[in-house]
Amino acid sequence: PATIKGDLSVLLEWAKKFAKLGVYTNADTPRDFQKALEFDADGIGLTRTEHMFFKPERLLQMRRVILARTAEQRAEPLSHLLEMQQADFYELYKLAGDKEVTIRLLDPPLHEFLPHDMAEIQEVAEQINVSVDYLTERIDSLKEINPMLGHRGDRLAITFPDIYQMQVKAIMTAVLRLSDEGQIVHPHIMIPLTDSQTEMGWVRKLVTDQITEMLADKEITIDYTVGTMMEMPRACVTANQVARESDFFSFGTNDLTQLTFGYSRDDVGSFLPEYIKKGILPADPFQTIDVEGVGELMKMAVNRGRLTKPDLPIGVCGEVGGDPTSINFFEKIGVTYVSCSPFRVPVARLAAAQAHILQTA
Ligand code: PEP
Ligand code: MG
Repeated sequence: PATIKGDLSVLLEWAKKFAKLGVYTNADTPRDFQKALEFDADGIGLTRTEHMFFKPERLLQMRRVILARTAEQRAEPLSHLLEMQQADFYELYKLAGDKEVTIRLLDPPLHEFLPHDMAEIQEVAEQINVSVDYLTERIDSLKEINPMLGHRGDRLAITFPDIYQMQVKAIMTAVLRLSDEGQIVHPHIMIPLTDSQTEMGWVRKLVTDQITEMLADKEITIDYTVGTMMEMPRACVTANQVARESDFFSFGTNDLTQLTFGYSRDDVGSFLPEYIKKGILPADPFQTIDVEGVGELMKMAVNRGRLTKPDLPIGVCGEVGGDPTSINFFEKIGVTYVSCSPFRVPVARLAAAQAHILQTA
């Protein structure tokens, strides 16, 4: 790899030969992906597309979508977002070459897209040409006390199906453009926060119908997969059912840990250090997998998922995906790959090699 010189480079090449687990990166920008490629990542295991909407121009268009009165009014801002997303995905695929890229459809807590105070409300009302009264009422109707347990993930696909349709259209437009240029891409589309087979089936159909419609008048076939994040305890327990509608699983251990312990991911700083200091918890479960609880749910999901599909690819893309101690556990329970931030790729690769050597020793 270009930026890893000398002995480390040799060690990593050696590690790659010995590792069984794939090591992918979490990346939402070409810059992060490029960094991970320099560390010889196998591809992208998770693109968090919600991170692509925080630049002012995009946020405004997204607000116009979320705050519109009707689906008809959403069409115009969605067409702007489609153009932007198409370019986002094109760049990532182009950079990937023949490596795999998994794109996760939108998963924001909805409040991140809402205007926050009166000044912002007034500004947005003007920008999207609605009254302040209408906007205030609409925002109130969307407000939640617990956004992380609320209107996010694929729940958005149920309430705003056109947002997911736009993203799938953007993915396929990029794929078709690359195909014209001679690059074959097999897109992997990932659904966040699924908790049942029925929900996954509904969203999967939304995705596949969109793809079928786009390919109807083309002479080309595109191999694609539609898989799900495994981050809801209920999805793990019913993994044999969820697998019927999924081409792959990827554990979102951040949410799975939050929901298994009932600890808010965003608020643990006030008490978790005391738990660790007093030995009530051996380590921060968001950083190192809690083998007995969260890990047991993962094991159950792997085993039940593979009862339905014996070759089901299964990844881990939460924070612990780059933690060496956790990687050893993932190897043991039959995970196929991990995905972590670019700078953790080298250490994850070494840990994957060590885990496999330990496993086979
Ligand atoms: C997770 O929950 O572990 C995950 C990878 O998704 P996010 O952190 O984006 O919720
Ligand atoms: Mg998550």
